[in-house]
Amino acid sequence: MLRAPDCSSLHWNFISEALNELRDSLRKMGLPLLVLNEDVVSAFTHLLSAYGKIVIHCHEETGNAISFERDRCVRNWTREQGIELIEYPQNGVIRGLRNRDGWSRKWNERMNAQIIPIPKSTKAPDLRITGVSLPSSTDLEINQEFGYENKLFGGEKAAHELLDSFLETRSKGYEKLMSSPISAPHHCSRLSPYLAWGCISSKVVVQATRARVAELKAEKGGLSSEGPRPRSLTSFLSRMHWRCHFTQKLEMEPQIEFSCFNRSLDNLRSRTPNANLLEAWRSGQTGYPFVDACMRYLRAHGWINFRMRAMLVSFAAYDLWLDWRLIKDFLAQTFIDYEPGIHISQLQMQSGTTGINTLRIYNPVKQGMDHDPKATFIRQWVPEVARLSISEIHDWGTDNFLRPTVDYPHPIVDHAEAVRLARQRFREIRTNANYKSDSEKVRQLHGSRKRATNRPRKPARR
Ligand SMILES: Cc1cc2nc3c(=O)[nH]c(=O)nc-3n(C[C@H](O)[C@H](O)[C@H](O)COP(=O)(O)OP(=O)(O)OC[C@H]3O[C@@H](n4cnc5c(N)ncnc54)[C@H](O)[C@@H]3O)c2cc1C
Repeated sequence: MLRAPDCSSLHWNFISEALNELRDSLRKMGLPLLVLNEDVVSAFTHLLSAYGKIVIHCHEETGNAISFERDRCVRNWTREQGIELIEYPQNGVIRGLRNRDGWSRKWNERMNAQIIPIPKSTKAPDLRITGVSLPSSTDLEINQEFGYENKLFGGEKAAHELLDSFLETRSKGYEKLMSSPISAPHHCSRLSPYLAWGCISSKVVVQATRARVAELKAEKGGLSSEGPRPRSLTSFLSRMHWRCHFTQKLEMEPQIEFSCFNRSLDNLRSRTPNANLLEAWRSGQTGYPFVDACMRYLRAHGWINFRMRAMLVSFAAYDLWLDWRLIKDFLAQTFIDYEPGIHISQLQMQSGTTGINTLRIYNPVKQGMDHDPKATFIRQWVPEVARLSISEIHDWGTDNFLRPTVDYPHPIVDHAEAVRLARQRFREIRTNANYKSDSEKVRQLHGSRKRATNRPRKPARR
């Protein structure tokens, strides 16, 4: 699992921090944390031979093909050994659904369920097996490339601190401030890695947020000048709903890890990468300063806000015409909050391969002007252009002026021309006999049943 192509040291370091904290919390309750560094079936075999009888309690995971296969092996093994295996849901993703009818109601039931209190103490087990200390990323030989500026520390305590500060003050103006890479790091919740790696549950976050909305509404009709407006938190709650909505797609159709939602689009883009374009994008050397600044920021921090993730993927998909499968693992490694269900669904949505969403093509120059109007973010992350004026920086991607000599590449593609070509390719493939029926299949299986807030109201210039 940890050596899989979508895993990185960024993930493991965060998980290790959370496990160390868990070890301390368990110790206070008189319980040990036993770490076994081996294949999961052989670990259970050792436990079985030490104790003679075991029961396995675990949560339901909607993961990649590797974790799916691991779970299948464990299930087979428990069946062969006659061992009880109890799986618990961990969020609003519902196992065994055939379609989305009634899904939102079920999600709400899960979110409203009682939060189980942590027992104060329990009976210490008789430990008959010796564990190992937590291995480091170096011990495990996991990729160490990303997240050297990451400040998010794994664990439940940090998750609750972030949730509290977000609900109390940071979410003020959330719905607007989430869009710029300058304001988003402070005004977004930053809970994503804690949710992804199990340090806090969706239910805890949703219930605390709903309680805060009620409190704010009661205070001066929600118009307190100090705290956030209730609508900021309602917008946040929609995203908590999307989280499970997207993960549900992978739960119901694991094949989307490898195939386009709409199968007619599977060969739209080549799967043999244009190595130069791919490398320019990955290393933040595309000649589009805002795109490069976002990529370099992401690589350093292991996180960037939603809009900038969407723009990076849009640039790869439409400007560079790269298949989403060529960038999936790289982005998974760079995101500290890697959650396969959200990641794969979003990658496909931003690449236009779902067949049920309008094409979302971002203009990288307009995005820079809208979300970094003074070019401060660009100057910080693309120092090569720092001495240029604001308009020279933003116009670097256009032919509006004679470019001064700086050690920074010229745009690797012409955005307008690339987008024209991309739209034409989509128009052509949509005439394919199977396209419509394939889109209908996607809508039937995955389409949200209620008019949710995640639908774009009208096409907007991005
Ligand atoms: C190409 C691409 C890949 C992505 N991959 C991931 C991923 O692997 N893991 C991940 O958690 N998010 C992913 N996202 C969604 C989103 O960018 C992050 O959830 C968000 O930036 C995390 O920061 P936050 O916790 O401060 O978000 P907030 O704005 O505070 O949102 C709260 C929570 O809602 C959920 N959420 C927010 N936006 C979305 C969304 N659009 N879709 C689904 N859930 C959402 C997340 O769990 C997030 O923690 C991806 C988006 C794109 C465009």
